[in-house]
Amino acid sequence: MDLAIRNGLLVTSDRVMAADIGIADGRIEAIVAPGESLQAQRTLDAAGLHLLPGLVDAHVHLREPGLVHKEGFAAGTRAALAGGVTTVMVMPTDDPLTFTASQFEAKRALAEGQAWTDFMLQAAIGAQACHVEELVEAGAVSFEIFLADVSPSLLVPDAESLLQALARVAAAGAVAGITPGDHDVVSRRTAAIRAGSTGAWQDFPPTRPPVSEALGIARACVAARESGARVHIRQVSCASGAQVLAALKDSAHITAEVTPHNLLLDEGELGRQGPKAKVAPPLRPAGDVLAMQRALEERVIDIVATDHAPHLPAEKAAGQGDIWKAPGGIPGLQTFLPTMLMLVQQGLLDLPGLVRTCATGPARLFGLGGRKGELCVGADADVVLVDMARRWQVRDEDQLSKARYTPFAGRMVQGAPVRVLLRGHEVMRDGAPVGDPLGRFLRPATTA
Ligand SMILES: [Zn+2]
Repeated sequence: MDLAIRNGLLVTSDRVMAADIGIADGRIEAIVAPGESLQAQRTLDAAGLHLLPGLVDAHVHLREPGLVHKEGFAAGTRAALAGGVTTVMVMPTDDPLTFTASQFEAKRALAEGQAWTDFMLQAAIGAQACHVEELVEAGAVSFEIFLADVSPSLLVPDAESLLQALARVAAAGAVAGITPGDHDVVSRRTAAIRAGSTGAWQDFPPTRPPVSEALGIARACVAARESGARVHIRQVSCASGAQVLAALKDSAHITAEVTPHNLLLDEGELGRQGPKAKVAPPLRPAGDVLAMQRALEERVIDIVATDHAPHLPAEKAAGQGDIWKAPGGIPGLQTFLPTMLMLVQQGLLDLPGLVRTCATGPARLFGLGGRKGELCVGADADVVLVDMARRWQVRDEDQLSKARYTPFAGRMVQGAPVRVLLRGHEVMRDGAPVGDPLGRFLRPATTA
């Protein structure tokens, strides 16, 4: 072995157990009872620490290419490591969008050498759905379909376009990620509300009402059943959405995610924090936050993903006093593990549940089962060492994203990631990156 991690408490998706880990060539080679023989060149003493698999974030916007003033692969993945994340799946919503294999390859080349975490790339599909096969070949992890709230080139505007796109995805044996919503509801309500608005923050949430999300989820579920495609529904945020999902989910191959902010923050944050808390779908009333917590507990929602969507502080500040002038989106990578530990502290999740929903679950959904998201023999040695005894405060000034703020600033967290290993290499210690960026491109295992 190259490295032995001794005396830690290993967390899997179903239990916590005392175990020692042996690592060779970047992979977990052995898991043995504490103190059992493990010949290794180096030893890391993890006494008093929990060992979690590196989190797998299935939904991040890293703003590169084209929008690198807002983030970029380097800044975004450093923030990820500090948040206990070792694998990111990167959305195609940059400039240019990731529509073709050549755009995909160019983005991959940009990320290689800069990324501090391992990464997968998602592809955009739009109404034409013409590049699916070449993008599968290039290693796209999913095909992203937007039913509302995006530029015309990204929008899948009607049911027939959606059915055709899903048929192409199904034929290629790929996964479709669907961002729900109803384009007519969002665009017409936005126009009507803005026409009479003075820019008060209270005017923003009603432009994306729960019924829009519920309609989008219903359409996505019915189209999934019709096409036979594997569909993953993004950023479910409200009771109405979760109810429709619960009713229709088992009719087809459908999974779904929720963000940490929709599990922890209610719409009052928009009043308290202003444009920094502007995001789509919007932060919802407290009843919806509770509904999302329950949906996660009842496994209507399968995984948590951050929808990391950074903007510069100045861009957000432009909406102070006029909410329409701020872009929507909040950073989430660096607070992924901390926010989930807040849910653990509140008793809404245990540590195995955290691992299941934030690591093992997303890895298995997106073709990384057995390689990422779990501490088992044969998996990559992506390990987060967490000191559960440490209590600390989230602060804006510690954020490594170019956004340099977090809507969770000021919150206390019980449990701190003190070290992160990527394929056996230490890449983060006490919130600071160590060494050089080692992130690699990952392609999903082909599913039958
Ligand atoms: Zn997103």
